[in-house]
This record gives sequence, structure tokens and C-alpha cells, in this order.
Amino acid sequence: LVASLEDVEESYIMIKPDGVQRGLVGEIISRFEKKGFKLKGLKLFQCPKELAQEHYKDLQSKPFFPKLIDYITSGPVVCMAWEGVGVVASARKLIGATNPLNAEPGTIRGDLAVQTGRNVVHGSDSPENGKREIALWFKEGELCEWTPVLEPWLK
Ligand code: ADP
Ligand code: MG
Repeated sequence: LVASLEDVEESYIMIKPDGVQRGLVGEIISRFEKKGFKLKGLKLFQCPKELAQEHYKDLQSKPFFPKLIDYITSGPVVCMAWEGVGVVASARKLIGATNPLNAEPGTIRGDLAVQTGRNVVHGSDSPENGKREIALWFKEGELCEWTPVLEPWLK
């Protein structure tokens, strides 16, 4: 049985500055590629403070908010839009728990991170937020609509 088109979602996935600094970009991208999701947008980007604040606005009242904004703006991030059936929940599984101490081995945070404040990757928490975040981080013309063609690439 094949999932219907309505099950296709989009998730905003971001490699945080520590992931870029530690040379984990290829490793992290490859986990989503190998799982079978479709990449629709990808860029290296120095995030301005205002954008980081808007992205994390639901966490505004948390004591760690200023540090979180400093962390996210401390160096370039890799912004990605991924599409697929159930991609939002599936990406959260691949990423693992917020605190890497609780993230299972085999997940990105479980394998590659130590602290909550340095947890290498972001993933949208709902399909609605997936759309909201992709619209926030990407400009028009930066996303590609494309159909995977399996045949001729390795010949
Ligand atoms: P997630 O990224 O798993 O969706 P949240 O949305 O709860 O987690 O938090 C967003 C980000 O804020 C986390 O990924 C982490 O970088 C940071 N964060 C969350 N809780 C804390 C905390 N207690 N101390 C420091 N940073 C935190
Ligand atoms: Mg979150």
C-alpha cells in the first residue's frame, strides 16, 4: 500500500552552529537522505538575531532564551527543507530527544551530541510549524520542486 499525497509533509531541519563547526554537516544530511526523504532547500546561512528570536518565539519566557539566541547566531547554520510522508515525526525520531543524555544511540543527538545547549540539530515539531519555519528561513526561489529520477545518474 502506498501513502496518499495528503500524508506528504515538510519539515524544517537545521544544523546548528556546533554541527557546522564540528564538521558534522555531511553526516547529518546523509541521515535524512538515506532515510528516503526529499531535499527541497539547502543553504549555509548566518542567522540574524531577529530571525532566531522569531523562530524560537514560543520559548521567549524561558530562562535559557538569551543563551539560545546567542548559540544559534554564534556561527553559520545549515538550513534545510525536507519533504516526505510523515517527515515531521520521522525527523524528530532520527534527531532524538532534546537532551542528548536522553537521546537513544542511533539518533543524531544520541550519537553526536552531549548537552541540551549544544544539541547540533533542529527539527520542526508539527506539520504546521514545518510550513511556518520553512517560510521563515527560505526566500521565494530558494526551494526546488523536483521529481527524483532514479535511472541515469550512475551510468
Ligand atoms: P527541540 O529542539 O528538541 O524541539 P525545544 O523546542 O524544547 O527542543 O527547545 C529548543 C532548543 O532550545 C533545544 O533544541 C535546545 O537547543 C534549547 N534548549 C531547550 N531547553 C534548554 C535548556 N534547558 N537549556 C538550554 N538550552 C535549551
Ligand atoms: Mg522544538
